[in-house]
Amino acid sequence: SGEVSYEMRAHPMDGGGAVVSFEDRSHREESELMRRDFIANISHELRTPLTGLIGFIETLRGPAKDDAAAQERFLAIMADEAQRMSRMVSDLLSLSRVEVDERVRPRAEVGVEAVLRSVLATLEGKLQEANVGVETEGLTLAAPIRGDSDQLIQLFINLIENAIKYGGPEKTIHVSLSLIERDPTLRQPAVRVDIRDEGPGIDPIHIPRLTERFYRIDDDRSRAKGGTGLGLAIVKHIVNRHRGRLKITSDQGVGSVFSVIFPQG
Ligand code: ADP
Repeated sequence: SGEVSYEMRAHPMDGGGAVVSFEDRSHREESELMRRDFIANISHELRTPLTGLIGFIETLRGPAKDDAAAQERFLAIMADEAQRMSRMVSDLLSLSRVEVDERVRPRAEVGVEAVLRSVLATLEGKLQEANVGVETEGLTLAAPIRGDSDQLIQLFINLIENAIKYGGPEKTIHVSLSLIERDPTLRQPAVRVDIRDEGPGIDPIHIPRLTERFYRIDDDRSRAKGGTGLGLAIVKHIVNRHRGRLKITSDQGVGSVFSVIFPQG
């Protein structure tokens, strides 16, 4: 049994503009139909870049045989695409691993503050390269949960990398950690992390579908940024495994907030 809720409310600040938020706590078993669909999707997702690679190889052997500049250019594109395919295979493996793990809630005690600090250190180079700033709040709190630290690291890497990719350069990503006395949905004390970007925001019609595998709002943009379309699907399963909830809120023209709320202790 699962729960998917979709909540829309007027933004208090801008009189009329809508803030859309979506929560996904679905633990539903996957139907056979979805599984077949998924295999068809994987085949398509891998075949498209492979067809491209085969085309480039033929061009390199034929028309571009004596064109050093073209060869250089094509090889760079081919390298990027091969990297993305390799990332896709890793993401598919992570996804299937998390799905299998989902039945077992992790027992180890993990400090969410430590996870966030380590993720930010890992992403420092990427943030600088993209010319994106970070502002943090609450990272000195002690925020222990029962968790799998590798998966938690992956979860926050995915969310912060998205904020870098889609938030845009010369913007700031806001990472805030807080302790909640009683989460109304989880009905217990909780640890909450908000990852907020200052990007263009997300059209409300897309929000409920973002955690679907391979769902992308703008296919070309996602591919150009090296995306696999699996990042948020992985996030969703990691959150489920931790018995938490994911909330996506976006205000067009202002930015998006991806919040994860975990039961404490
Ligand atoms: P991808 O590899 O394409 O980034 P994800 O599963 O991580 O795949 O995200 C799915 C889609 O959700 C993205 O293609 C993008 O369109 C949208 N998205 C994710 N994060 C953000 C964000 N912070 N701002 C705007 N759009 C986002």
